[in-house]
This record gives sequence, structure tokens and C-alpha cells, in this order.
Amino acid sequence: MQYVPAGQNQYATNTKEYSIIKMKRTELSELGEFGLIDRIKETVLLRNTNTIRGIGDDAAVMEYGETCVLVSTDLLVEGIHFDLSYVPLRHLGYKAVVVNLSDIAAMNAIPQHITVSVALSNRFSVEAVTELYEGISLACEHYGIDLVGGDTTTSPAGLTISITAMGTAARADIAYRNTARPGDVICVTGDLGAAYLGLQVLEREKQEFLANPDMEPKLDDKEYLVGRQLKPEARTDIIYDFRDLGIVPSSMIDISDGLASDLLHLCKASGTGAAIYEAELPADDATLLTATEFNMSPTTCIMNGGEDYELLFTVSQQQYEKLRNHRDIKAIGVMRDAGEGVLLMSSAGNPYVVQAQGWNHFGDNKL
Ligand code: ADP
Ligand code: MG
Repeated sequence: MQYVPAGQNQYATNTKEYSIIKMKRTELSELGEFGLIDRIKETVLLRNTNTIRGIGDDAAVMEYGETCVLVSTDLLVEGIHFDLSYVPLRHLGYKAVVVNLSDIAAMNAIPQHITVSVALSNRFSVEAVTELYEGISLACEHYGIDLVGGDTTTSPAGLTISITAMGTAARADIAYRNTARPGDVICVTGDLGAAYLGLQVLEREKQEFLANPDMEPKLDDKEYLVGRQLKPEARTDIIYDFRDLGIVPSSMIDISDGLASDLLHLCKASGTGAAIYEAELPADDATLLTATEFNMSPTTCIMNGGEDYELLFTVSQQQYEKLRNHRDIKAIGVMRDAGEGVLLMSSAGNPYVVQAQGWNHFGDNKL
């Protein structure tokens, strides 16, 4: 307990000169990003019967007549999510759209519309904004999306971009995080860990450039990794494949924070455990080689790297038969009962408890 002048304290209980603080101050880092979201969720009451899913999935789901509308929003802040010393504005615009489209795809839905809001400091010129919107337009063209609005304001420092993506799906086609069952096969699309190593390469180049501005960038054999960091893609192609094959995943999430963190989200939401196999984790050769070059374990990069924007999903054993020969989908494990925990079985056959070490914006490992 602590006494402070009432006028200076928003938690003061009365207007007397001194009053007792009823609430203690909790640092954001104590709760972390996900703890904070849980805390916000507790305060939210859903009032409309057509709100099918609110906070807690990759996108919200609202039913309008026969169709469900899916909405997802993301905020990118300069200095936290991107560094303009090595991210061209055109790439930033493209990526800002893609990360939102990925969340709509993660619900097994097709994105169709976005709004884009920007806060700009006077450091930015009209030409800079034009370049940012060239990237946004390129993503809209590539994914067949319409930009339908937004907001523009000034910022005391730096650039902030907020994008909201909307898409539609039939209610029966939507895949949530909380509907996996023990026995389901766990699958991922594409390969993992490359975007994280691309970031390490760019950071290394930046440091070398700061030390020696005359240096030539050495990115020749790192093109794939840097490309995965600067210009990721949303796997809407896989959603079309699911439709063609008549598959609705029993659960799905996109891998933004890292396989470990996002698998834990699926397991926590579904009330399951899981076993995944190190030998089955998909990685490009460049990822394996570069991890070693940086003295990192390739498995750590694959499990915790993040920003892959691949899809992590589960299907029943029966449905998996239809995917077995898919060129870009790999089975990496199986859902289990919650009591069995979430385990990574190493190539040597040893079980490790999967822990989230992905990006936690209020934690120690701030992005
Ligand atoms: P993703 O990584 O898929 O974008 P997040 O981890 O950002 O998902 O968010 C998880 C869930 O929490 C989503 O349903 C999102 O809409 C919700 N959420 C995040 N921040 C807030 C907030 N400040 N207020 C309300 N809901 C939030
Ligand atoms: Mg997501």
C-alpha cells in the first residue's frame, strides 16, 4: 500500500487529498503479449448472436445470412517490427498486406478486401509513401484483393501501419484453433526457419555496413533466406487445394510466432497434447547451412524462428490420405491427449518439452 495525492492518481478512491491505491501496478512484461490479450478478452462481452468467434483465433468470424465474414487486423511499428535501414518501403507494404491475408487463410477462408491506415512522421516524403503503396498495390494485384479504405495521420516519430483484412467463407468450411482432436495428423506447408535466418543475415550486413560503409553486400547465396524475410507469401494457394480435395482441416493457425509457439496455441485452444518429430520438420538447405554458419541449431531456428507465414494444421488420419502426395505439405506429428504434453521427439529418439520462445512483444526477447 502506498499513499499519493489523489489528483495525481487515476486509481484514487475519493477526492480527499490522500487516498489508498486499490490496485497494484503490474508491468506489461509480467503478463506478456498473450497474457495481456487473455486479460482483455476477460473484459469483453459478446452481444450479437451473429458473432461466431471473437478474440482468440487468427480472425474474427461474423455470420451475415448464408455467409461468414472473417476479419483480422495487425499493427506494424517502425523500430519494433521493421527496420527501414534494410527493409525497402515497397517490400514493407507488400509484407504488411501478406501478414494479414495469412490470418484469413489460416481460417480456411479467401481474403478479398483490406483497409490500410498509416501514421507518418515528417521524415517521410510523398515519394516514400508512394513507394510503400506500390508494395501494397502489388500484393493486392497478386492476391486479387481490393483496398477499400483506411486512415492517414501524423506520427511524432517513425512509421506505423495498420492493415485490416476481410474475407468470406461458408460456416462449415471455417477452420478454428480449438477443434483439433487426439489422433489427428499435424501438418505444415512449405519450409520453416528461413525468414528468421534471413533477418539474421540482414542484421549482420547492417552491422558490417555501419562499421565499413564502403563494403559490398554479400547476399548472393542468401537470396532465398532474405526473400523469405522481406517478401513472404500467404498460403491462399493451399486453401484452394483444400477446396479441390474436399478437405476442411480439423484445426489451423498460421506460423507467425514460430512453430513451437503456434503449435502450443493449437494444443492449448483444443485441449490436446502433441508429438512432433524433428526428423520430419521441413527446412530448405540454405536454412540448415546458414544456421550452422551462425552457430545456431537448425532445429531451434525451425521451431522458434517465426515469420514463416506457413500454415500449421491438423486433419483426421482419413483426410490425411488425400494430402499424402501433396508437393508442399508435410506431416510432422500427431495430436495426443493433453496429459501426454507437447513433445518434440529428437532425431536421436529423445523427447523434449516444446516451449514457446517466439516473439513476445512485451517479454525479454522483444522484436
Ligand atoms: P495473430 O498472431 O494470428 O495475428 P494475435 O496473437 O495477434 O494473432 O492475436 C490473437 C487474438 O487476440 C486475435 O483474435 C486478435 O484479434 C486478438 N487481439 C489481439 N490484441 C487485441 C486487442 N488489443 N484487443 C482485442 N483483441 C485483441
Ligand atoms: Mg495468425
